[in-house]
Amino acid sequence: MTSKDLIQSHDQYVMGTYGRYPIALSHGTGATLYDFDGKAYTDFASGIGVVSIGYGNPTWAKAVADQAGRLAHVSNLYYTEPAAKAAELLCTRTGLAKAFFSNSGAESNEGLIKLARKYSHDTYGPGRSTIITLQDSFHGRTVTTLAATGQDVFHQHFYPFTEGFVHVPAGDLDALKAACGDDVCAVLLELIQGEGGVRPLEPDYIQAVAAFCKERDILLLLDEVQTGIGRTGSLFAFEQYGLTPDALSFAKGIASGLPLGGFLVSERLSGVLGPGTHATTFGGNPIGTAGAAVVLETLTDAFLQEVKEKGQYIHEQILAMNSPHVTDVRGLGLMVGVVLQDMSHRELVAKLGEMGLLALVAGTSTLRLLPPLTITYKEIDAGLAILRSALCPGT
Ligand code: PLP
Repeated sequence: MTSKDLIQSHDQYVMGTYGRYPIALSHGTGATLYDFDGKAYTDFASGIGVVSIGYGNPTWAKAVADQAGRLAHVSNLYYTEPAAKAAELLCTRTGLAKAFFSNSGAESNEGLIKLARKYSHDTYGPGRSTIITLQDSFHGRTVTTLAATGQDVFHQHFYPFTEGFVHVPAGDLDALKAACGDDVCAVLLELIQGEGGVRPLEPDYIQAVAAFCKERDILLLLDEVQTGIGRTGSLFAFEQYGLTPDALSFAKGIASGLPLGGFLVSERLSGVLGPGTHATTFGGNPIGTAGAAVVLETLTDAFLQEVKEKGQYIHEQILAMNSPHVTDVRGLGLMVGVVLQDMSHRELVAKLGEMGLLALVAGTSTLRLLPPLTITYKEIDAGLAILRSALCPGT
């Protein structure tokens, strides 16, 4: 089969909800992918921050295959070993008390929203259910997480959206305080707004938000769907911001390619969602959590230090290109945003694909790089060479 044949049959039968690039991928190894015609691509996208420990990772593939052969699924009415192991690794590494497993980032954020509203209702009674989120945020595509998402572009078509979300500008503490009336139960935010343009929040701002929330018993909820699981050079980004949230969501990189997500809660919230209040058929599925355990065991302190160093290297190399199209390079670890001028980020990503480099867009003018965390310097250099020729034509 050629890439062209595959694209044709896919487009005939799969709904056109995605603006896909004309690239059909067949297999991969490390941070390199191959299409059906044998063309190689360096991957600076990792399936949008998902394939955290690389394509064809032998330890992951064996653990997943062994688990598939032993026990694929039993429902959450019974106990399984991989879910227990993955939850223990997440809790002991973060200091948070308990995990709930779901299947995606949006669903994980839905869980955080239910957690906050139920905690508040149990503690204070009705009327305290509003959640503050940030403009430029992104929290998912369900009707409720679209309402939580602060970017106006997502508030179309699907009315009526879920009530009870107020969006405030990132970095503006006074605006956040002004929005926190007696009806507010939680603040939900991304420490680095990923889809919104790879925009890190200032540590001073977020620490002041955390202190304010604590004073009012407003829960601080972090959406670490994109920043979590080693992406920024620590298991979760909050570790680099000098605070601990009341709860956080994760997904994307947790199982390096299997559909798993979830949320972690602090001790005092660990009993809020009791039996019958929250559930999902596939959550904590043994195959997904077996993959997650391998990911979590791979992300040692030494490994995470390398993530920081590789991110720094990419950052410096892009700045050293002196491209007239680059106005800023920002982010943390291997979550890199390259802010562009006089060049469309969408056209650039399409062109990079043709040249053999997979990358992403974010916001209105940012090129976003989220390579597998296991990417080698050789693969980084191969990708940067392509990026240089696109950003600095004629040099
Ligand atoms: N939250 C953040 C910060 C995200 O970046 C994303 C996806 O890009 C989501 C939530 C939604 O995750 P999913 O697509 O797995 O539902």
